[in-house]
Amino acid sequence: MSAPGAGRCDVAIVGGGMVGASLALALAGTRLKVTLIEAVVAGSDLQPSFDDRSTALGNGARQILQTLGVWDEIAPAAAPIREIHVSDAGHFGFARLNAAEHELAAFGYVVSNRHLGAVLWRALGRSPQIELRSPARVAAVRIAPEWAQLSVQAEHGDDGPLLARLVVAADGAHSLVKQAAGIESSSSDYRQVALVANVRTDHSARGVAFERFTATGPLALLPLADGAYTVVWTLAPDAAQALRDCDAGEFCRALQRSFGWRAGRMLQVGRRASYPLSLVRAQGVTGERVALIGNAAQALHPVAAQGFNLGLRDAAMLAELIATAADPGAQAVLAQFARQRDADRGGMIMFTDQLVKLFNTRRGAAIAARNLGLLLFDLSQPAKRALSRLSWGFGDSLPRLSRGLPLLR
Ligand SMILES: Cc1cc2nc3c(=O)[nH]c(=O)nc-3n(C[C@H](O)[C@H](O)[C@H](O)COP(=O)(O)OP(=O)(O)OC[C@H]3O[C@@H](n4cnc5c(N)ncnc54)[C@H](O)[C@@H]3O)c2cc1C
Repeated sequence: MSAPGAGRCDVAIVGGGMVGASLALALAGTRLKVTLIEAVVAGSDLQPSFDDRSTALGNGARQILQTLGVWDEIAPAAAPIREIHVSDAGHFGFARLNAAEHELAAFGYVVSNRHLGAVLWRALGRSPQIELRSPARVAAVRIAPEWAQLSVQAEHGDDGPLLARLVVAADGAHSLVKQAAGIESSSSDYRQVALVANVRTDHSARGVAFERFTATGPLALLPLADGAYTVVWTLAPDAAQALRDCDAGEFCRALQRSFGWRAGRMLQVGRRASYPLSLVRAQGVTGERVALIGNAAQALHPVAAQGFNLGLRDAAMLAELIATAADPGAQAVLAQFARQRDADRGGMIMFTDQLVKLFNTRRGAAIAARNLGLLLFDLSQPAKRALSRLSWGFGDSLPRLSRGLPLLR
């Protein structure tokens, strides 16, 4: 099926959002010929991955980004989370986690997606061995035993076919590559929307993240480097729309009522955006000549802020396995990738999904048990220690990059 005049590479990464760009950067020092294809230029207002949201990076993600050599550029705009306060609105349950008690400088760091995108794409621009095609969209993928053939459409027209030994789907929850590879995927709608905005209060945010479980769903306030907070407010779709469209004063008053006064008086709100929430889960993370990473493999509810952290470990493990492989798309390599990611992926999907269900319940007995659970959690150092280790993932196959080791031995 090899088309005459087709471009060739070892690895074609489809999607240069948070996870695809990270994988490309991880592969920059290897001997692999890598092409990264991204539909929307980083820095554009329409970029769906590097948009107005902010992301909480756990210590595991920080370690990977540090090993990739970009943490020093991210850090000046990252706010450390030194304390986490968890509460249940209208009930007695309350738990507080303090990073210093776990001998950590911070549980994680909050950074704006735009800044993360700018840093990752700048670093890619310094890596001549990675071919960047953006804006360019993969319109079709045909899989054959030896090669996958991608049709790439650039702004000025057809870019011609591209042959790759391995195609990596980093093209998000509605992945075209996943469909082209015939990998089944399930989607279950939480019937909730995350409303996201930055707010300023009369207290500057100083390293405390709040997670409050309300009658409508979880409400998180995460500290930002400029002293404001980013709010992720889970709501029923109609309530989310009303709060997205109302005036700023009304929004601040509604947020104050739901959240209370722990972060001070709500003064200002920035641009609001909403994200319908569902759990999208591919049945498997590989197909012939194809590997899925990030949201293409699994898109999670943001309640535990784990989606990118998990996707980054997908990228780190895949990079490690293909870096020295004679054929990066060989069946044995892909089978090992699937095995190595199984426990972490399954564990994190279940943990997040159960957390959403636990805190969405309206049943009296379940609410009492949940509040008792929070109190017991507050008293239990081992439980807190386990939670503080969450950002390293489930299972015991930690990628080399998460351990601070370079990809190549
Ligand atoms: C409200 C909210 C808050 C969140 N907060 C956190 C958090 O605090 N911590 C955390 O770890 N995670 C968080 N997440 C999850 C995190 O945002 C996702 O896990 C992450 O965006 C996944 O990145 P990705 O690169 O896999 O996919 P995406 O971000 O969906 O990027 C996919 C990319 O592929 C490109 N693309 C798509 N199709 C094509 C094509 N055919 N050709 C070329 N390019 C294509 C798109 O333009 C895009 O750039 C949050 C999610 C939400 C919704």
